[in-house]
Amino acid sequence: MDNILLTKQQTQVVIIGAGPSGAIAAALLQQKNIDVVVIEKSLFPRFSIGESLLPACMEIIKKANLLDVVDKASFQLKNGALFHKAGRFSEFDFSNKFTEGGSTTYQVQRGKFDKILADEVQKQGAEIRYQHKLIDINFDYKVLLSIINEAGKEYQIEADFVLDASGSARVLPRLLDLEEPSSFIPRKSIFTHVKDNILNDGHFDRDKILIAIHPDDHEVWYWLIPFSNGTCSVGVVAKESFLVNYSSDNKLALQQLINEEGELNRLLKNANYTNEIGEALGYSAKAQKLCDEKFALLGNAGEFLDPVFSSGVTIAMKSAELAADTLIRKFSGETVNWRDDYEKPLMVGVDAFRCCVEGWYSGAFQDVILYPNPSKKIKEMICSILAGYAWDGKNPFVIAPSRHLNNVFELCKS
Ligand SMILES: Cc1cc2nc3c(=O)[nH]c(=O)nc-3n(C[C@H](O)[C@H](O)[C@H](O)COP(=O)(O)OP(=O)(O)OC[C@H]3O[C@@H](n4cnc5c(N)ncnc54)[C@H](O)[C@@H]3O)c2cc1C
Repeated sequence: MDNILLTKQQTQVVIIGAGPSGAIAAALLQQKNIDVVVIEKSLFPRFSIGESLLPACMEIIKKANLLDVVDKASFQLKNGALFHKAGRFSEFDFSNKFTEGGSTTYQVQRGKFDKILADEVQKQGAEIRYQHKLIDINFDYKVLLSIINEAGKEYQIEADFVLDASGSARVLPRLLDLEEPSSFIPRKSIFTHVKDNILNDGHFDRDKILIAIHPDDHEVWYWLIPFSNGTCSVGVVAKESFLVNYSSDNKLALQQLINEEGELNRLLKNANYTNEIGEALGYSAKAQKLCDEKFALLGNAGEFLDPVFSSGVTIAMKSAELAADTLIRKFSGETVNWRDDYEKPLMVGVDAFRCCVEGWYSGAFQDVILYPNPSKKIKEMICSILAGYAWDGKNPFVIAPSRHLNNVFELCKS
């Protein structure tokens, strides 16, 4: 094995990272007999945050022939989202959406979910090299990737194209100096998995994510994502300047903050906090461009907005689908234009989510979401975006998100 690895190798496409974007891209390329090698620095399962999926990503999972294994994994069903602020609730049931398409998905422990996808992709014939880390890249001739294997030895692979699916490691933006500051200010998230002990008394719907807003600061919000095994993912997002008023011990800070939010305090009063507490800081990220003649950035390696609408995995999978479609056309001899065929279509949905996130932190979109008597049609259109159908060219909130959201913000003010 080592001898093989020490020699230069060749393939059509190298994918850096076997998370959701890497796995979907590998499956779609493999289906078309395009030669793919996936380089993954960890050993799966490994922890990852980002557990609440959106219905729109199920169509991509299906297209990649990965739906059966996901359906069989006994993950918690998800059919909507519940929002709460200071006693006001607003429910979005994904079946009441403007866009056609599936209205359910899952709430998944990402370690297990990512491994299920990656294992199936391997079964379908794509090669995944675990504990292999990309350390350098050269585009002088084709694409020459320098990699360190699990034994610490360096080797090289030559490819026609590279897909960077390295998530927040953002390998290519860093190596190629493509980093650009995100327009979102840095925020911190503290999170864990709890044994929730939530009473099954009909007052809590495990099929929905709960998003709660701090009663005193609308920029501070929480998620509660129930899993099928009696545990929940719970986390809070706030500016660091807000968190300095809380314990420097993340577990104590998280519990203090949960106690301040009426609904979470009620639901989690018997919860056991036995698992590690995680944190993520300044996670919003952007690149100057998402593609060139020999590379494309997928998922978080390209742009990550914010966790609030659970859009990360869906955008990651959509980017993989668009990049794979473009590569399939390229390898079949068609002329492709990466900016027109990949970056621009991807940005349609990213920009729709971007406007929602901006409105969330200004508070205006929270007022829309919590509005007591919304127009049925407008709620359905917003519900479509919350369900991940952010690329539906028939939805006015996708075509011109800023204009339509601003109109609705004004309506909800008056
Ligand atoms: C606090 C928080 C909460 C979130 N909640 C949600 C949510 O509820 N729902 C949702 O959809 N999204 C959520 N997200 C976003 C979600 O985590 C990401 O959008 C998603 O995981 C991106 O997938 P990906 O395939 O781009 O990257 P990843 O899933 O991060 O996978 C990248 C892979 O690349 C590998 N890698 C990295 N560097 C190298 C290297 N040099 N060589 C080889 N391999 C490498 C890594 O080991 C990893 O396995 C959240 C994010 C944050 C910060």
